[in-house]
Amino acid sequence: MTQHVLVLNCGSSSIKFAIIETTSAKLPLQGIAENLGAENSQLRYSYGQDKTSLKLTTNATHKDALHCIEQVLKKFDTLGSSLVAVGHRVVHGGERFTHSCLIDDAVKQAISDMSHMAPLHNPANVAGITSAQAAFPNLPQVAVFDTAFFQTLPKHAYLYALPYKLYEQHGIRKYGFHGSSHYFVSGQAAKYLTKEIKDCNLITAHLGNGCSITAIKQGKAIDTSMGFTPLEGLMMGTRCGDIDPSVATFLIENLAYSANQVSALLNKQSGLHGISQLSNDCRTLEQEQAQGNQQAKLALDMFVYRLVKYIGSYLAIVGPLDALVFTGGIGENSSYIRQQTISQLKHMGFSLDDKLNTEMRFGHSGFISQPSSKNILAIATNEEWVIAQDTIKYAFQA
Ligand code: AMP
Repeated sequence: MTQHVLVLNCGSSSIKFAIIETTSAKLPLQGIAENLGAENSQLRYSYGQDKTSLKLTTNATHKDALHCIEQVLKKFDTLGSSLVAVGHRVVHGGERFTHSCLIDDAVKQAISDMSHMAPLHNPANVAGITSAQAAFPNLPQVAVFDTAFFQTLPKHAYLYALPYKLYEQHGIRKYGFHGSSHYFVSGQAAKYLTKEIKDCNLITAHLGNGCSITAIKQGKAIDTSMGFTPLEGLMMGTRCGDIDPSVATFLIENLAYSANQVSALLNKQSGLHGISQLSNDCRTLEQEQAQGNQQAKLALDMFVYRLVKYIGSYLAIVGPLDALVFTGGIGENSSYIRQQTISQLKHMGFSLDDKLNTEMRFGHSGFISQPSSKNILAIATNEEWVIAQDTIKYAFQA
């Protein structure tokens, strides 16, 4: 009988969910419960071509949403009864979790204890786990950590040049995020290259609302752009990426910002949105700049410039490159951002095939480089699939 895994990605006010077949990457049902804790909480899901939207109770909690997801699954009897496990995307696993694991009380407590390092995410992940345990008491639950893929980073790459005791006593270091995506696309890249992953040197750029780039040497992550939190690194939809940390102290000392206001500014009001003063959505900015909007153009130019700088620095550390990989909503779909990026890397041996660059979008993956170029791939990521695979692997380990 076909077996399915329920994959949950719990945010502070939303739960993304997907049912995945364990032997294929098929997603018969997927959806989102959103605006949790607010008046207009709702649950939307699609089953094949059918799309349904349900109103949840006002101020619905994660528990209410999970209960509703359970009811939806009951409607599709064959799906509900073939569920074998629940997999949770957990954002921060700190240094404790170097791979996924079956959730017990100690694991749940450890995820909760790391909340100070991911205050928006880990508490929501714990709430999701607790609610899923209540809704599906007979199913094993597995935590798959965003940070685990980066536990191969060497110490000289993950440490900040701060007093060492801050690392020893408080775990202040680079952790990296989007691990499931970088892991998935690096594995796919190896297949396109017909090489074993252990023989591949790759640079993987996950460009979505959040953006991160990873240097992978002989199949292992050796550096990545996100840091202690998912704020460091590339310019993102609303996050600033790399800045001089003194900007934060300046805001506090001279402009009377509170710590919360600084955090909101850097995480929610910056990036593409902050520069364009228009939108965090790359599509909107591409359209606007085509119509002459100079702020939209500046935002996109900065986004590309910073990406090019990271690619250059990672080329220096990975050794002979097997492929540069684009993924994430922007990386998978924006032929414009890819074209702008690669045009600045011509002198380093990269050139795009314009036709392939146009074709490899909207779920189509493959090479987008000219034969004479270093390899460039656009690959549709599939984090749910990685979570489902790990869930099966760890749910039934003795
Ligand atoms: P994600 O967080 O991976 O879902 O990616 C969201 C980002 O992908 C947003 O900035 C979208 O504007 C961007 N995106 C999605 N489709 C396209 C597209 N066709 N062209 C440019 N950007 C896109």
